[in-house]
Amino acid sequence: MNNYKHVLANSGVLLDKYYYFDGKLGAIYNKECTEFRLWSPTATDVKVRFFSTGSDSEPGAKVLGTYPMTKNDKGVWSYTAVGDLAGMYYTYLVSHSDFGERETGDIYARAAGVNGNRSMVVNLETTNPQGWENDKRILFEHPTDAIIWEVQVRDFSYCESSGVSEKHRGKFMAFTEHTTLFGKEGAPATCVDYLKELGINCVQINPFYDFGSIDEASTADQYNWGYDPKNFNLPEGSFSTDPYKGEVRIRECKEMIKALHEAGIAVVMDVVYNHTYSSVGSWFDISVPGYYYRYNKDGNWSNGSGCGNDTASEHKMYRKFMIDSIMYWAQEYHLDGFRFDLMGLHDTDTMNEIRKALNTLENGEKILMYGEAWDMFTACQPGTIMANQKNMHYLPNNVAAFCDNYRDAVKGNEFEQHSCGFVQNGSRRNELFRAVRAETDFWARTPSQAVNYASCHDGRTMYDKLCVSVHHNNPQYDKRHEDIVRMNKLAAAIMYTSQGIPFILAGEEMARTKLGEHNSYCSPSKLNRIDWTRIVEYKDLVDYYKGLIKLRKAFAPFRDHTEGTIHKGMWLFTDNPTGAGYTLEGEAYGKHRKMLLLFNGANHQECFDLASHGLTGWWDALVNHEEAGTEFIGEYSRVICVPPTSALILVEQDEINP
Ligand code: CA
Repeated sequence: MNNYKHVLANSGVLLDKYYYFDGKLGAIYNKECTEFRLWSPTATDVKVRFFSTGSDSEPGAKVLGTYPMTKNDKGVWSYTAVGDLAGMYYTYLVSHSDFGERETGDIYARAAGVNGNRSMVVNLETTNPQGWENDKRILFEHPTDAIIWEVQVRDFSYCESSGVSEKHRGKFMAFTEHTTLFGKEGAPATCVDYLKELGINCVQINPFYDFGSIDEASTADQYNWGYDPKNFNLPEGSFSTDPYKGEVRIRECKEMIKALHEAGIAVVMDVVYNHTYSSVGSWFDISVPGYYYRYNKDGNWSNGSGCGNDTASEHKMYRKFMIDSIMYWAQEYHLDGFRFDLMGLHDTDTMNEIRKALNTLENGEKILMYGEAWDMFTACQPGTIMANQKNMHYLPNNVAAFCDNYRDAVKGNEFEQHSCGFVQNGSRRNELFRAVRAETDFWARTPSQAVNYASCHDGRTMYDKLCVSVHHNNPQYDKRHEDIVRMNKLAAAIMYTSQGIPFILAGEEMARTKLGEHNSYCSPSKLNRIDWTRIVEYKDLVDYYKGLIKLRKAFAPFRDHTEGTIHKGMWLFTDNPTGAGYTLEGEAYGKHRKMLLLFNGANHQECFDLASHGLTGWWDALVNHEEAGTEFIGEYSRVICVPPTSALILVEQDEINP
């Protein structure tokens, strides 16, 4: 049954008005008893069923009993089972006049068996790794202090070159290993040890809640990014060493987070509350048909997500679910931030409520929140204010949005493969200036609201996009091209000196390639994986990123969360439309300094006459077309010529002690 016209009258507004329930839901565990609670005001009957295992294919599988639940005046069905139920698997049998009896997992499940088909009662205390009580969130004074590297669990360590032990490759546990290239003694560090050297301080990890597209019971080499949530409140089984035992994935996910924290790296979870893997037959659909999703006037499912359904954040019990889920991950898993997939499908009230809830935690206002604030069509109530770029002023300064203009200004339109940006040919200079000022003249109120990126999991990798846009029909993605590496370096120099929050796809700094594939969500692991041998082949590029990250950390004005630095800056342009530069000033190396940033996207030299901008004296270079860092690598004054396709970043000489 795909059309929901007949159940909509019972849903949404009416249920919100009379049946909103503020309390705890799910399996509420104590050693003495467990209380099961499911909210379903429209159900005619609900039973809970207990199982010995998470699936019927496991040894000893049997049904242990089916028990009727009773409903209160808020539509909450409950049943209390006496005894220690930790490790017990369960489902609900929900009867509805239009659908008959259907079996469902618990939308609030905190643990589940293989493939997430049966929920599991869990004693969370037993899932904590050793030393978990000392594990602390890695938080930043301001969002603009974060330096984000986006990675997928499987991509990170799928390759033998990662040096990760075979049993942990592609799993959460890979993050706990100290590794070198191919595991060889004296070889360059890989994985988390490599990230420490690179200097990034935050990883965004692609979905690691339980998703539906991978068969956890199969040993075949399957791949999916995982933007298809099945159980929102528990980790994905295929990333664990044992997807059958519900507690294992929880412990191993915590091990990953703890290891990253020990390395000084914050963990941002990629959350996808905007849709579910299934539409008809999802846990939400069975629990309360017609309530948790948006429907068009004709009763068909709204599909702004492009994934078959849109959840309804404006409905109070789904909004509560999102808040409860975020708070659960933040508290139980010590997460440092959340990246909202298709945030533009959520309403601003919900995002504000989530922000307020996180703020109640210790230093909670520093937990990162940002998302994809695209303006999308979805069937919500007229007048609902959606969390898209044009509505960012409804959100506080510590909720940010990805900047698509930044991406396109740097390397060309995402959706036209031959389209170029500033780093290929010096074009889009005006868009670039808007972007390096964190869109503060446009949709962002402050730099802390803008996430700058030129590569992420969506679209081509930086290297691939540069190859195809410059070399057209002969991109040769698998080869090193000096012109492309040079453009890549220029893109990096712009990234780490821009106002806003810097973000790159894992491996952008090692010229990661997916051989031109622009949507690798279900491409083979071999195409998606990080090939760690590239940290040797592209060592100069990795070192360049390393130096820029060091520079960003050393010079506070790059990280200003307010508009202050932007207003103090002076903007320089060459007569040609391809050169661009500006000054920034503020505290660096213990005193007030002025910096000069010159970018040349053209394949010819560009000269800047400093005197014509009232800039006198001598300047020390910290970044040129080959090197980047905090060491002085050259002196300049008066007319400064910047070589083709490169950046020159300088600091004003100390007049007393040059
Ligand atoms: Ca799964």
